[in-house]
Amino acid sequence: MLYPQPVQPPKIRIQENVSLAPYTTFRIGGPARFFAEVTTEDELLEAIQFARERNLELFILGGGSNLLVGDSGFDGLVIHIAIHIATPTISSGHFINTTVAAGTDWNAFVLQICEQGISGVECLAGIPGSIGGTPVQNVGAYGQEVADTITAVRALDRDTGTFVDLSHKQCGFAYRRSIFNTTHRGRYIVTAVTFRLDRNAKPNLSYADLKRHFDGLTPTSLDVYNAVRSIRHSKGMLIVEGEADCRSAGSFFKNPIVAKSTLATIASALKLSVDKVPHWPADKGQIKLPAAWLLEQAGFHKGFALGNAGVSSRHTLALINRSNATAAEVVTLRDVIQQQVKARFNIELEQEPVQLGF
Ligand SMILES: Cc1cc2nc3c(=O)[nH]c(=O)nc-3n(C[C@H](O)[C@H](O)[C@H](O)COP(=O)(O)OP(=O)(O)OC[C@H]3O[C@@H](n4cnc5c(N)ncnc54)[C@H](O)[C@@H]3O)c2cc1C
Repeated sequence: MLYPQPVQPPKIRIQENVSLAPYTTFRIGGPARFFAEVTTEDELLEAIQFARERNLELFILGGGSNLLVGDSGFDGLVIHIAIHIATPTISSGHFINTTVAAGTDWNAFVLQICEQGISGVECLAGIPGSIGGTPVQNVGAYGQEVADTITAVRALDRDTGTFVDLSHKQCGFAYRRSIFNTTHRGRYIVTAVTFRLDRNAKPNLSYADLKRHFDGLTPTSLDVYNAVRSIRHSKGMLIVEGEADCRSAGSFFKNPIVAKSTLATIASALKLSVDKVPHWPADKGQIKLPAAWLLEQAGFHKGFALGNAGVSSRHTLALINRSNATAAEVVTLRDVIQQQVKARFNIELEQEPVQLGF
């Protein structure tokens, strides 16, 4: 395996025993044995070289908003992606193609697009984290997914040591999935993402909350941006410093995709008729169930507390750090919820945030 050598003299500073909690939205987690912040692709190569020479495990950190770090930390090298190099936007007809560096704040990019009156990402306003983190779990909200506008992802392929440009198709996007968090987990380090936006597209109002909010009006993409942020705030899904409901990793469980026959199991457990069980159609004749509703039916209401961990008082699906919670407390709460949902409905809830150092 041939890694290209960085062309400039070494620049990166490798720090030791850096607490990871401040780098996560949960504000939980022990230290990284080694920590490097990289601002260019060359620095990324240097950091990887450092890890290879010492046979260290690597972890790639973006905004830390989909991450639960264990209390004893991580005995390897954490590479914090802080690449912010701007690339010119290319217009072609009514499309614009824009390549954005992986370390850019996602919401800042969304705002910039919406301020130009362009639609395509307005429903993804307020999602914390970096540009580079978005393709990993194909972030989605309020009727949009980032995969709708991504045309290419530039990444370092750790298997070959080369930078590659992966097409939309090669990324294998699906609901909260891509090759980056499934078949090729850990193989690619994203350094930039290319988006294609249609100047003629109208803002997406397919989601019920937004339809209700605008009630027949024709909002601009910036109006939708602001509305999404305000709805997210009311649900504790916007990071607002100091609010306990925001010390989370967003939704802690994915909406389960199950066989249609599961509706009967749930209905029978709750003594309901099948048509009272909320669900949406999914691929291959399956259905998607709202995980938040399952949690509520299993007894985990908004504001539920277990030690210093809990369920957000504004959103059933967000597990929160109520005050100085440990990762162990969050894991205990997660296990209790998963066991209870399994026992009642025979459904395995899948955790959404990535775990490090367990
Ligand atoms: C309040 C709140 C609300 C949220 N709402 C939503 C929502 O509505 N929809 C949604 O989909 N998600 C949501 N999330 C989850 C999270 O914001 C997204 O998953 C986000 O894209 C994660 O990006 P990040 O940069 O913070 O990644 P991190 O948390 O730093 O990392 C997450 C994973 O991605 C990997 N990764 C990060 N950057 C790179 C890179 N450059 N190259 C390769 N791998 C990388 C990491 O190694 C890790 O495996 C929410 C989170 C919070 C806290």
